[in-house]
Amino acid sequence: MGEAAALRSALRSIAEGAVAILLAPECAACHEPLEEPTRGPVCGRCWNAIVPITPPCCRTCGDPLPSWRVISIAESTCARCRRKPPLVTRVRAVGPYESSLRAIVHALKYGGRSTLARPLAARLRACGDEVLAGADLVVPVPLHRSRERQRGFNQAAEIARHLGVPLQHALRRTRRTPSQADLPAARRHANVRGAFAAAADASVSKSIVVLVDDVSTTGATLNACAAVLLTAGAREVRALIVARAVTRTP
Ligand SMILES: [Zn+2]
Ligand SMILES: [Zn+2]
Repeated sequence: MGEAAALRSALRSIAEGAVAILLAPECAACHEPLEEPTRGPVCGRCWNAIVPITPPCCRTCGDPLPSWRVISIAESTCARCRRKPPLVTRVRAVGPYESSLRAIVHALKYGGRSTLARPLAARLRACGDEVLAGADLVVPVPLHRSRERQRGFNQAAEIARHLGVPLQHALRRTRRTPSQADLPAARRHANVRGAFAAAADASVSKSIVVLVDDVSTTGATLNACAAVLLTAGAREVRALIVARAVTRTP
């Protein structure tokens, strides 16, 4: 270690100690005291506790497949995607919407911890090469203006900024809808139907577009957004979402 690095490291540990003593900040996900508060609002244990979605997965929607049914992983799609190929051709997520990842998404969204967007985006890049390969644009799923004003930011846009692909706010939400999570699955498609439109300055013609969102349950929101983008001329729509409420297909 060089002298400057040693000094930086010493200063950092003094700063960690001082911040820990003076403010005693807690992890935004597990609420235990943070040992290294200068490294962000979520502790290392919580980051390490994220359970990835492990292969075999559906090539299209990214949901886990029961391994006994998989003949060739490269060819495998789930029964749902085979029955009705979705408008979004590839979806990948960091992990299922549970335990640690759920708590981190909540801290970002409802706790106002927008600094969590960057490390979450890094994890999306790690699991999403197939989605980002050849992509022209990333487009965040928009919040309604009134909700964005309330929250102060759109978590999907904050994440999308750090994916290394040009960002475009190509969509807008035309009406405020109840949260998908609060509705039974059967009502989610109707809830978001017609809720999105192309932004006035949208320019997605012939592009491969990657939608970005924090959580997806039935895929109804992604589907509604994809329909708008395809109508606006997009060549292909894919999606990256932080957390997936996983439904296992029989
Ligand atoms: Zn924690
Ligand atoms: Zn599928």
